[in-house]
Formats: sequence, C-alpha cells, structure tokens
Amino acid sequence: MLRVGILGATGIVGQKFIDVLRNHPWFEVTELMASERSAGKAYGDVVSWQPTGDIPHGLADKVVRPCDPDRLNLDFVLSGLDASVAEPIEIAFASSGIPVISNTRVHRMVPDVPLIIPEINPHHLDLISHQRTRLKSHGFIVTNPNCSTIVLALALAPIHEKFDVRKVFLSTMQAVSGAGYPGVSSMDIIDNVLPFIPGEEEKIESEPLKIFGRLDTGSIEYSNMVISSRCHRVNVRDGHLMSVSIALENPPDLQELKLAWQEYSPEILQLNLPTAPARPVRITARPDRPQPIRDRDAGDGMTVTIGRVKPCPILDFSFSALGHNTVRGAAGGSVLIAELLKSRGYFQN
Ligand code: NAP
Repeated sequence: MLRVGILGATGIVGQKFIDVLRNHPWFEVTELMASERSAGKAYGDVVSWQPTGDIPHGLADKVVRPCDPDRLNLDFVLSGLDASVAEPIEIAFASSGIPVISNTRVHRMVPDVPLIIPEINPHHLDLISHQRTRLKSHGFIVTNPNCSTIVLALALAPIHEKFDVRKVFLSTMQAVSGAGYPGVSSMDIIDNVLPFIPGEEEKIESEPLKIFGRLDTGSIEYSNMVISSRCHRVNVRDGHLMSVSIALENPPDLQELKLAWQEYSPEILQLNLPTAPARPVRITARPDRPQPIRDRDAGDGMTVTIGRVKPCPILDFSFSALGHNTVRGAAGGSVLIAELLKSRGYFQN
C-alpha cells in the first residue's frame, strides 16, 4: 500500500479524501495534517465530521500534525488546504521530495504545473519533468481544477473532441458544501440565492482553456475557446448544477450531439483505475433532470449527468449539467489523479 498524507484533513475536502479512500486497494491514509489550531489533538476531537458513516477505523484517535514535511514517511499527499495558506506548504512538500495533488487554486495556472482531469488531458502530466527540474526535487505538484470547472469541462469534452467548442455561456447553481465548513451562514442561504461567489467566475472562464490546451515544451498553449460565466450559491447541500449554452465550429444535428455524450469513452477507462467511473459522462432523456438530490451520486459521485439538451436560438445548443462538487469536483477527482500517477510510475523513488 502507498502511504498517503492529507493536508487540511479537518476541512470539507480533507474529510472527503478520507471518506473516498476508505478500503482503497492501493492507498492508505497514514498522516493527518491541519493548522496549529488542530495540531497535537486527536482527529476525532477537532473535526466536525460531515460524510455519512463514522470516521474510518483508527483515524479518530490519530494525532493531527502540523503541515510540515520533515521526518514524514509518505509516498504522496493530497491537499485540501485553505487557499490562503496552501502556496508555501505545498511547495515545501514538493521541494522535500513528496508529490502533492492539490485542490487549491494557487498553483493551477503555473505554467509547469499540470491541471488535470484524467479523462481529458492525462498527457499534460509530461509537465512534471520540467517542474522537477525547476524545483530540483523528485517531488512535484499536480492540481485538480475548480469544482465547477470539472463539471463543465467533462460536459464539454465529448463535444469539443468532435465538433470544436468555440463559445460557452453558463450560469451555475452551486451547493453550500463548495464553500467549506462552516462556510455560508444559514441566515444568508436559507430561503435565498447568493448571486456572487468570489473568484469563481474567473476560474471557470480560465481553467478550461489550460485543460483543453495543447502541450508544448514545458508549458501549455491555451485553447482559444471563449467562456462567460455567472455563479450562484443555492440552498443545496452537495452537487453543482449548471445551465450551459455552446457555439460550435462544426455544429452537428441534435441526435449526433447526444450521441457524442453517449459514446464518450476516453482512453483512461482502459487502465481500470479503482476510482474511475465506468461512464464519466451520462445523458438523461428525462425532462426534469438532472437534479442534485437525484443525480449527484451517479457513478459513486464521479459521473457528470447531462440533460435537457436542445437547440439554442442564440448560440447552437443548450443543456444542463450536474456533478458532485466534493467527489468528482474535489476529493474523488484528486484520488483519480493519484491513481493515474501511480499507474504511470510517478510515485516510484
Ligand atoms: P475548509 O473546510 O475551510 O478546510 C480548510 C482546511 O485548511 C482545514 O483543514 C484547516 O485546518 C486547514 N487550514 C486552515 N488554515 C491553515 C493553516 N494556517 N495551516 C494549515 N492548515 C490550515 O475548506 P474546503 O472546502 O475543504 O476547501 C479546501 C480547499 O479545496 C480550498 O482551497 C477550496 O477552494 C478547495 N476546493 C473546495 C471544494 C469544495 O467543494 N468544498 C471543491 C474544490 C476545491 P483547521 O481545521 O485546523 O483550521
């Protein structure tokens, strides 16, 4: 088993890492790390445990450590750190030889840091060799995109592959768990919608350009797709829903468009990675779906559901897409990246 440390283990994403890694065939959580507020105390005493079921056996009594790579015996770390503190900590781990798979925004757009959705751009992992040279370390940082970016990019990937997406206009309806714990005040979100999530629109408009970009020597040449987004926080616990309109370079008819989603079968599926869903994207014909409560757990939270596909009188087509923000959009997505890295030999010393 490979030994995994969790940075930000007490947060929403950190807890989900622990939950997703329950009974994992390759990875075992051996270190829990968080702020000085939690360090030195038993995990069960400092965490406000949110996933369904108990804290996995043996971890509730485990003493939380500070986020310091010294004297740690780890094969890699998964980071769910607060973005305001993540940069120096993640660099310290990578520089000390411990690979980091991060959920925070801070390194996503750094030229030699891969921003990965395993189904879409696994070849971007080639950037790691350039990063290792820069860091003068065997360690490296790989990043998981923003939770809404992941849902959007997976929804677009089958279409982009065949018909070349040129313009995207979307509005999101994002769950409260996306704001961390304790996150948005109940007084602000009950009976309400918040039409502003700081920094979110900028991430959704920029990150897919790197994900769909072309790998050049040591960096990515960004896609020239244009994206305009508006983000809303809604009174839903888990699951980001979005309404998307697209313009295509080579628009097909409606049936061909739906077929592209139905037939999507990226190469990574052949690797049989433990967390990879059989279908990363599925399409529903039901007129009242996707819905967060009914569709977020598709593929154990790793499948994005598309629905309500129709022609758009302004752009070419419109549709709805839904994905689980803390699973596919965070912890599950990162664990899948870790499985891909392992299968490619990146954790070997
Ligand atoms: P969160 O619930 O607020 O958790 C933040 C974590 O960071 C906690 O473990 C906290 O530890 C730790 N931390 C805070 N200050 C620290 C310090 N000075 N030194 C070391 N650790 C410190 O946030 P979250 O929702 O899990 O999000 C974590 C990251 O993932 C963020 O960057 C977020 O943008 C990103 N993300 C979140 C989601 C989502 O759906 N929630 C999805 C994708 C990406 P203490 O408990 O000890 O303070």
